[in-house]
Amino acid sequence: MEQSSSAGPVQIVSITEDHKFVLDEKNLKAILYHKRAQGKKISLVSIAGDFRKGKSFMLDFFLRYLRAKNHKDWIGKDYEPLKGFDWRGGAARHTTGMIMWSEPFLMSLPNGEEIAVLLMDTQGTFDSNSTVFENAFIFALTLLVSSVTVYNIMHNLQEDNLQHLSFFAEYGVLAIDAYHTSPFQQLTFLVRDWQFEYETPYGFEGGEEILTNRLQIRPNQHRDLELVRSRLHQCFRKVNCFLMPHPGLKVTNRRDFDGRLEDIEKDFKTQLQAFIPELFRLDNTNFVKEVNGEEITSTQLFEYFRTYCAVFAS
Ligand code: GDP
Ligand code: MG
Repeated sequence: MEQSSSAGPVQIVSITEDHKFVLDEKNLKAILYHKRAQGKKISLVSIAGDFRKGKSFMLDFFLRYLRAKNHKDWIGKDYEPLKGFDWRGGAARHTTGMIMWSEPFLMSLPNGEEIAVLLMDTQGTFDSNSTVFENAFIFALTLLVSSVTVYNIMHNLQEDNLQHLSFFAEYGVLAIDAYHTSPFQQLTFLVRDWQFEYETPYGFEGGEEILTNRLQIRPNQHRDLELVRSRLHQCFRKVNCFLMPHPGLKVTNRRDFDGRLEDIEKDFKTQLQAFIPELFRLDNTNFVKEVNGEEITSTQLFEYFRTYCAVFAS
């Protein structure tokens, strides 16, 4: 549709071998100063989390949704390979730092105003080659620049996921020196390979149950946990959670799997159809990126990227 044939993933932040972060201003500028985005408000939807947990694979379905002419029939054809952000098996890391889709997508808010939607893939957390500092930097920067951050986790929402998130959020808040309430907008936990559907159903409904349970502050609880929870409430305007089923053994075990829908379990596809349209709902007040309560344009986001990176580098 509106995308050019050369559209693809572009590295905007990389990590050097001596653990320095490099913002590729030229690459970022080409995206944020794209003529399609000029003067428009933006939404930046990102995905973060441990590596080899299906993040880029999921993003490629976001891409399909954004590219589709009609949002009822977006998921694609049975035999079509899944392309876009690089996803695959094997033990090597594919994405370190931050990768953005090279072109913005246009969507219209309920009031008719067109906004530019951007997608970002990130990598940094908790594989053997990353330091804690790198992880915190990548995650914190992601939270700062995104309107919606998807935190991709495997199997279940655990206590340590909350602790890490709270640490990253704290790091981000300190960097911008902005201890006002809710510096960040939406955080969506995406739990992959949810196994307890018989107890808690897939989707946002089951996610809400898990989240309420994990975020509850109980009497006699360890004080650290209480702090983590109140910090999350303070930092984010909206926190929700989606429980996703396992995609099936062809996805995880077959070397020649190319992402085609035919090889993916029906439950997974059903939940994709529930998750993605909800994530890109244009009447969500957290969808458009704000800084200090003001909706910003893509060129302003460029300046924020530079400022935040400079702060972290110092
Ligand atoms: P990333 O490193 O988090 O971006 O992970 P990738 O998207 O590259 O996927 C890594 C591997 O996980 C690929 O072989 C995918 O086929 C597989 N995968 C994709 N989605 C899922 C999922 O929901 N569950 C499981 N167990 N594997 C998945
Ligand atoms: Mg990836």
